[in-house]
Amino acid sequence: MYCSHCGRPVDTAARYCPACGAVVQPTGFVRVPVFGQLTRPRYPRVFGGVCSGLALHYGWDITTVRLLWVLCVILGGTGVLAYIIAWIVIPEAPYVLPESNIGSGV
Ligand SMILES: [Zn+2]
Repeated sequence: MYCSHCGRPVDTAARYCPACGAVVQPTGFVRVPVFGQLTRPRYPRVFGGVCSGLALHYGWDITTVRLLWVLCVILGGTGVLAYIIAWIVIPEAPYVLPESNIGSGV
């Protein structure tokens, strides 16, 4: 990562910039929200991320969505087919990159 004060590269574990002494906040991973688009997140997921994608998109409880899907599989038998169709139709969420790598050419 880089110092926000002087722009020099700083070790990711450092709390202060060695060049100018400014406080450096470790940025870690940033969440990249894709508003309005239903995606299958890379985490959390069990199989293809369809249940967690639906839960995150509509604000539902992920456990409830998974339980309903299991009930659909057991009771109706259409759950597996619906899941495979959703797996194909719903795009996978983009990789989440550390903020320090954005725009630095890495
Ligand atoms: Zn600095």
